[in-house]
Amino acid sequence: MSTTTAVKPMTEHSAEEIERVKNWINSEEYKEKNFAREALVINPAHACQPLGAQMVAHGFEGSLPFIHGSQGCASYFRSTFSRHFREPASATSDAMTEDGAVFGGQNNLFEGLENAYALYKPAIIPVFTTCMPEVIGDDLNAFITNAKNKGHIPADLPTPYANTPSFNGTHINGYDSMLKAMLEYLTEGKKNEAGANGTLNLIPGFDGNTGNLREYKKYLDAMAIPYTMLADISDVFDSVCDGTYRMYSGGTPLAAAADSINAQATVSLMKYSTLNTMKSVEANFIGVTKTLPLPMGIRRTDEFLIALSELFDKPIPAELKAERGRAVDAMTDAHQYIHGKKFAVAGDPDYLLGIVSFLLEMGAIPYHILCSRSNKKFKKEMEALLATSPLYGAQGTVYVNKDLWHMRSLCMTDPVDAIIGDTHAKWVARDAKIPLFRVGFPIMDRVNLHRSPVIGYQGAVNLLTMIVNKFLDTVDETCEDQWFEMMR
Ligand code: SF4
Repeated sequence: MSTTTAVKPMTEHSAEEIERVKNWINSEEYKEKNFAREALVINPAHACQPLGAQMVAHGFEGSLPFIHGSQGCASYFRSTFSRHFREPASATSDAMTEDGAVFGGQNNLFEGLENAYALYKPAIIPVFTTCMPEVIGDDLNAFITNAKNKGHIPADLPTPYANTPSFNGTHINGYDSMLKAMLEYLTEGKKNEAGANGTLNLIPGFDGNTGNLREYKKYLDAMAIPYTMLADISDVFDSVCDGTYRMYSGGTPLAAAADSINAQATVSLMKYSTLNTMKSVEANFIGVTKTLPLPMGIRRTDEFLIALSELFDKPIPAELKAERGRAVDAMTDAHQYIHGKKFAVAGDPDYLLGIVSFLLEMGAIPYHILCSRSNKKFKKEMEALLATSPLYGAQGTVYVNKDLWHMRSLCMTDPVDAIIGDTHAKWVARDAKIPLFRVGFPIMDRVNLHRSPVIGYQGAVNLLTMIVNKFLDTVDETCEDQWFEMMR
């Protein structure tokens, strides 16, 4: 740490005292105090509910996400998406302030909706909330109905809405609530009593990796399965740069979303970010519903493709079998460099299960596994996954509702070789002097990782290439002269 700073210290401490505390926070004694902490969260590996809702709202054609709440919250969501994707995140807010907090936010919503519609001519305005209107109990349904009755927006403008109080849950719950609300709104009265339409609804879940979404599409095209990807952000946040600004680019076509109720099957690839959505789909949609694990690594990708093959009675094409074979070959070639290495992993439940599954396939040891907001169900599922590998998985410990400051204590007192997580984990990596492999959301400090798939066979190759080459770089950078070899 630099000894000069532009900020004047509030209190002065001797160099010895600073050194003592620096060492103490790496100790077992400090770890115990850190894990006894109850009333404070430090650097959690999650975002808040409305951010997840906004991701869904962006994923539909001509959609303008509308945040009922504070401008500061809206700026946080937009800037997080813009920093991660390096694309604009066009969303609007009714900027509630103190008077809204006292008298309710209905007037803000009226004015905001009227301006948003007049200026940006969206095809749909999904509305969701920040903490403030949730605390005061704003009635979104009544407010939006009143806005239409008073002529602030056309009566036929689609306006699905979700309550997304951030003091309860995280971005994955906001994603779930908004997606459920949008599907229920858009499919209302659209059920075709004549039967299913032969398509697949694919729900990727809260995934900030547009490369993953493109990979799913590649598989479906290869298998000739007609599909609708629901909340498809791939062209929204990975749009072309050709000199023309498009306010609305990509997204699930609204007509296809409306017809999703008639699909032959609906498959979700993230259980924990689509729990309520899938319950609603199960109750209301015509076709089969299935929730599959995020297809990271060979086994889970196989499971995904076999499920598609069975659901649509289509063979798995030779090109995908060949891709699998190449991935297995790449994993075998790289196995020796990752085998037995210990990893700390932090992130969302679905991603964590995928990453741990991949690490076990590589003979690595998922050692500290941390989810900063989850439940016993997830913990049990992760422990069951670890138990499938008595040699490598049995060494792992799962921590739920702990943050990255807890993870720092774990990595300082019981070291690992690397950490896998989003950009928030870089402080742990720096203090523990280990590499951070950036997987998840958000990734704000490296380029293009959101375009590089981590799911599927190609994703397995990408992950192991990133991990193993970094380990080899470290060997080259730190070895003594006599061990500096041409070949590794
Ligand atoms: S936690 Fe609440 S107050 Fe904070 S950014 Fe999220 S919605 Fe806004």
